[in-house]
Amino acid sequence: MLNILVCVKQIPDIDLVKMDPETGNLVRTGVPTLTNPLDLNALEAAVQIKERFGGRITLITMGPPMAESTLRECLAVGGDEAVLVSGRGFGGADTLSTSYAIVKAADMKGRFDLIFCGKESLDGATGQMASQLAERFDAAQISCCLSIEDIKDGRIRATRALENGRELVEATLPCLLTVEKDNFYGRLPSLDAYLASKSAPITVYAETDIDGLDPQKIGVPGSGTIVPKIYPPELPEPGQIIRTGSPRTDVGRLLELLTEKGSL
Ligand SMILES: Cc1cc2nc3c(=O)[nH]c(=O)nc-3n(C[C@H](O)[C@H](O)[C@H](O)COP(=O)(O)OP(=O)(O)OC[C@H]3O[C@@H](n4cnc5c(N)ncnc54)[C@H](O)[C@@H]3O)c2cc1C
Repeated sequence: MLNILVCVKQIPDIDLVKMDPETGNLVRTGVPTLTNPLDLNALEAAVQIKERFGGRITLITMGPPMAESTLRECLAVGGDEAVLVSGRGFGGADTLSTSYAIVKAADMKGRFDLIFCGKESLDGATGQMASQLAERFDAAQISCCLSIEDIKDGRIRATRALENGRELVEATLPCLLTVEKDNFYGRLPSLDAYLASKSAPITVYAETDIDGLDPQKIGVPGSGTIVPKIYPPELPEPGQIIRTGSPRTDVGRLLELLTEKGSL
């Protein structure tokens, strides 16, 4: 039976996140959260593998306590077990310390044959986590996966999307995959699974619960990057469409504008 790990992230609804012009920080307070949509594609790929080859899916997320709702959403559509990595010491983490914490927490649950990640998160959007996790798990990596052809004798065959073609690749297990959404649209939960997910047990690991966790490698101390400032890009002046219905008037207005701007 395959032991499968799916990494999921709860993100703020990015359409509703605003920037504080004074501090340059993102204002997340009061903003509704959702499960990173690309992670639901990754989970669907894992569920399809479980259905074809047999397996057990462990979900993992690092985040605040409310990230539990993302785990429950994922339990309802095929996850078997869920782990929430949560504690003050993990706060302010960049991708380096996030991937460290996730691997150390996952190690508490045993060895994984397959690890799935979304291609990127819609909020942080570095796209760095999958490769960092593959390195830390000492796993092969197949990115942009379109379909899983076969898994046998400790090897996986999958088709990847290229910019102008497709590529059939084979890798040894353990292997980390990120998937294209085309063949892995997330499914809706059955009513029974939805209800069961509401009361399913979730393992919560704080800093002190994880064997061998180095506090210097998590959160702010473990982060290799700092973000001195976040600011919106300066946008060019928006264009104007002149359409009065009369070409003569339109051209007249255009000439006026160009004259005002000193372009004529
Ligand atoms: C200096 C610095 C400070 C930061 N401080 C904070 C902070 O205080 N609070 C905060 O929320 N964010 C913070 N971030 C952002 C945080 O580092 C990233 O959200 C996180 O490391 C993942 O990076 P990403 O979102 O770019 O993931 P990507 O690499 O784009 O994500 C790819 C995939 O990795 C997996 N994944 C990503 N994040 C997680 C996760 N947390 N748990 C499980 N799986 C995951 C998912 O499958 C996801 O689809 C900070 C970033 C920096 C650089």
